[in-house]
Amino acid sequence: SKMKGGNSSSFYDPALQTLLENQTELETDIVRAIACDEFCAYFQPQLSIDGSIIGAEALIRWNHPTKGLISPNSFIPIAEQFGLIQKLQNIVLRDICILLETLRADDVLKNQFNVSINISQCQFNSSTLKGELFKAIETYDVLPSQIKLEITESMLAGDLMSTVKQMKELKSQGFVFSIDDFGTGYSCLKHLSVLPIDELKIDKSFIDKVLDNASGQSIVQSIIGLGHSLDINIVAEGVESAEQLHILKSMGVNAVQGFLFAKPLTHSNYLKWHKEHQ
Ligand code: C2E
Ligand code: CA
Ligand code: CA
Ligand code: CA
Repeated sequence: SKMKGGNSSSFYDPALQTLLENQTELETDIVRAIACDEFCAYFQPQLSIDGSIIGAEALIRWNHPTKGLISPNSFIPIAEQFGLIQKLQNIVLRDICILLETLRADDVLKNQFNVSINISQCQFNSSTLKGELFKAIETYDVLPSQIKLEITESMLAGDLMSTVKQMKELKSQGFVFSIDDFGTGYSCLKHLSVLPIDELKIDKSFIDKVLDNASGQSIVQSIIGLGHSLDINIVAEGVESAEQLHILKSMGVNAVQGFLFAKPLTHSNYLKWHKEHQ
């Protein structure tokens, strides 16, 4: 092959080569898609355990002209790797503010309602996050308390001092914090008490097992106990059945989200759902 030669490190790996080419292709396509306005946020309702709407989670979607609707799991890591995540985050932020503005204009915006945005590790560590958040909310006349920042549990395992500083600063401005995928990471439990956390989201993998056996239940029960001892709300994500809802309610979960109630919806379908369920 063309890679043969004196350099010992230059042996040719076709699998790696294909992977790199695919990544570069995807990166180029993301840049094009941003320019063509193919990304947008969908919204999945969040309900209190008694069934009232308390918020929604914004989940990005790529409306690809030939590939159809693309799941974020396949492009978020590439966007992070190639420095494109901030652009995507700003699209989601814009869509969140537009939704909040529409709910207010239609007079169906409740006081306690907020919309979550998933924040990537690299965005959370960036000094521009606060500025981007304020740019969006000031453009649309939205309050910080209407935006919930979802960071993952694994992000707490890094530099604790800078995480505490960043969270406290945003919290003091009024933004709300949720710890996503809770139970899957390595966060030291004692850190939880020093962080300004409003909500823990129990990862779907635990909700999937809550009806299986006693050990499936005990993990969920201990997360709930931990959260409540720290005065933190507990949200169960990925709730798919009435049986799951029933047991989660008996265990003391505060709020739920999942296909049992609604899938992530487009802006207009979300509005329709919201008005039918308010
Ligand atoms: P996540 O934040 O844990 O989001 C929950 C995922 O579970 C979403 O997948 C949602 O559609 C799905 N889901 C919700 N309820 C159910 C259910 O009852 N059953 C099943 N089977 N699935 C359910 P989605 O939208 O494909 O997003 C995947 C991941 O991509 C998210 O996981 C999040 O980590 C990431 N992501 C999505 N949007 C954004 C974004 O705007 N920014 C960043 N940085 N990451 C995002
Ligand atoms: Ca999330
Ligand atoms: Ca999650
Ligand atoms: Ca997840």
